Amino acid sequence: LRLGGRVVEAGAFPIGIDYEDFAQRAEDEEVGRRVEKLREQLGDRQVLLGVDRLDYSKGLIERLRGYEQALENNEELHENVVLFQLLVPSRENVPEYRKLKRRFDRMVGRINGRFSTVDWQPVHYLYNSVSPQELSALYRMASVALVTSLRDGMNLVSKEYCASQVDADGVLVLSKFAGSRNQLGDEAVLVNPYDTDETAEAIGRAVFMDSDERRRRMNLLRDNVADTDVFWWAERFLDAMYDQDETVQHVAPAETMSLTGERAGSRSG
Ligand code: UDP
Repeated sequence: LRLGGRVVEAGAFPIGIDYEDFAQRAEDEEVGRRVEKLREQLGDRQVLLGVDRLDYSKGLIERLRGYEQALENNEELHENVVLFQLLVPSRENVPEYRKLKRRFDRMVGRINGRFSTVDWQPVHYLYNSVSPQELSALYRMASVALVTSLRDGMNLVSKEYCASQVDADGVLVLSKFAGSRNQLGDEAVLVNPYDTDETAEAIGRAVFMDSDERRRRMNLLRDNVADTDVFWWAERFLDAMYDQDETVQHVAPAETMSLTGERAGSRSG
């Protein structure tokens, strides 16, 4: 891009996470004890996990619609799955966010009212943030992570889930509109969160996926998140900056574009 008197190079630098940090925490003793306790409480039930800021972009209502539809379509899911949603409070003083919270609460109430039995409540949710250890235990023990963003920069939660899946037996259900789709889309179960039937089907597919396929997909996801971690990101970014002088000298004027879209050289000055 020609910007004022300078040539500016633009590039895409998809951010990574500290993979080792998440993978190690998931194996720490305290986290292990927490995972065991959660598993004892849940028995054989599979946990579908959502971890999001309370925000419109996260597709929270769409996720609940998909889950409700999945429960409606498939009785085998009843009593065998639990949706655990961690909602991190955000912009609580903005009326639209309070309204979203009320909508979310109403839908959770409706789903629980509709499907609960004496021994089972299909949706549990926590409106709070949790410690890194607690988050790690949830990531590790969840059989399915549900990321249904309508729009998202990267969505670090999708990467953190994979890094924490040290037993490699979880499935990532990932929105086509999350930034991480470009890196994780091949091995995740992809969904269009606006499509309730597709989301419901993806939930069923993830829950019933056999263990070989789960392991194969999760191992590839973990390799990918490890290979493109935050240190890889920082190196690429710094390399691009250090290389910039050299690159700029190689950009011929005809290949540069001004920010208004005009070809460089076609305007005076
Ligand atoms: N997170 C947190 N506290 C919690 C739950 C989650 O700090 O109780 C973190 C999570 O680990 C992740 C971030 O919040 O790093 C959410 O990032 P993401 O890119 O998924 O979404 P954003 O909120 O930036 O749109």
